Amino acid sequence: MTTYFNYPSKELQEELSRIAKAIVAPGKGILAADESVSTMGKRLADIGLENTDEYRRQYRQLLFTTDAVVAENVSGVILFHETLYQKADDGTPFVELLKKKGIIPGIKVDKGVVPLMGSEDECTTQGLDDLAARCAQYKKDGCDFAKWRCVLKIGKNTPSYQAILENANVLARYASICQSQRIVPIVEPEVLPDGDHDLDRAQKVTETVLAAVYKALNDHHVYLEGTLLKPNMVTAGQSCPKKNTPEEVALATVTALRRTVPAAVPGITFLSGGQSEEEASVHLNAINQVSLLKPWALTFSYGRALQASVLRAWGGKKENVPAAQTELIKRARANGDASCAKYVAGSVVGAGADKALFIANHAY
Ligand code: 13P
Repeated sequence: MTTYFNYPSKELQEELSRIAKAIVAPGKGILAADESVSTMGKRLADIGLENTDEYRRQYRQLLFTTDAVVAENVSGVILFHETLYQKADDGTPFVELLKKKGIIPGIKVDKGVVPLMGSEDECTTQGLDDLAARCAQYKKDGCDFAKWRCVLKIGKNTPSYQAILENANVLARYASICQSQRIVPIVEPEVLPDGDHDLDRAQKVTETVLAAVYKALNDHHVYLEGTLLKPNMVTAGQSCPKKNTPEEVALATVTALRRTVPAAVPGITFLSGGQSEEEASVHLNAINQVSLLKPWALTFSYGRALQASVLRAWGGKKENVPAAQTELIKRARANGDASCAKYVAGSVVGAGADKALFIANHAY
């Protein structure tokens, strides 16, 4: 085994680490608005709208024209390819709207999950082939970070060695390609909440998966200071009869992360994974309150848990846009506070903040 390699140039290291640090600046996190066309279709169907380009554009316009105060808690937005090239009614590209507020545009670069043959319904994520060229173009078009989601499932015999290794390796290869194009990779190995497993099992699986991910990132010479991790929180399975307190979830999560994520990683931006908006804020707050050494920023990169009330308040009606934008500001503030361990449970009441957002076998 050879250990020969080159570190990235000083300039590249500085650029990547500057971007990563800005994303996890105190009190800030990410709005994940990178739903694919078909996933966005499901969100629109929930509020009785057809899945047209125009409705998708109007909805994203609502998000990105929210008052600049939202940038106090939102440092970055993850976009889907289509959205990156859309414009507001007045012709301003969405990317410009974000940049004017000091929000960093990011882009989902994976091309979705595909089955692993011979496994028990496990999967890997595709999209590596033309990734360097796509990243180069996205960087030119204003994106400074990217996301790639892998999915692991907890079952009697899963996640398998095959799935753990394959997903760790594809994440590492993705991260390395992003960095070669001056893009900060968000590494997302999501252990799904589907199942009736308990908290201990979720913790052990998360530890095993993360350990494999960081081994692979090291093997691929990924510059950790210029990456972010987007993991699941450690929670018992959705159908586990025993419910845990936020403190139990927080301790299991922080313990798993401390055992596996190097201190060189600047930040951990959790996905919400079907938790209600309120639950996602309460858990993030409890995580930040755990009194153990936590060498990384611990914040949010929420999709459903930042948008559910927004969508409901909007309902596709122009006159509801300001009310929907207020929901976004409130939820972003709640999570920004939670990332500083300052969120008071129940203090932010939204248009349905308690509604469970779990979707079985969720595709994003
Ligand atoms: P949720 O917060 O809805 O789980 O989604 C975040 C995300 O970007 C998943 O890839």
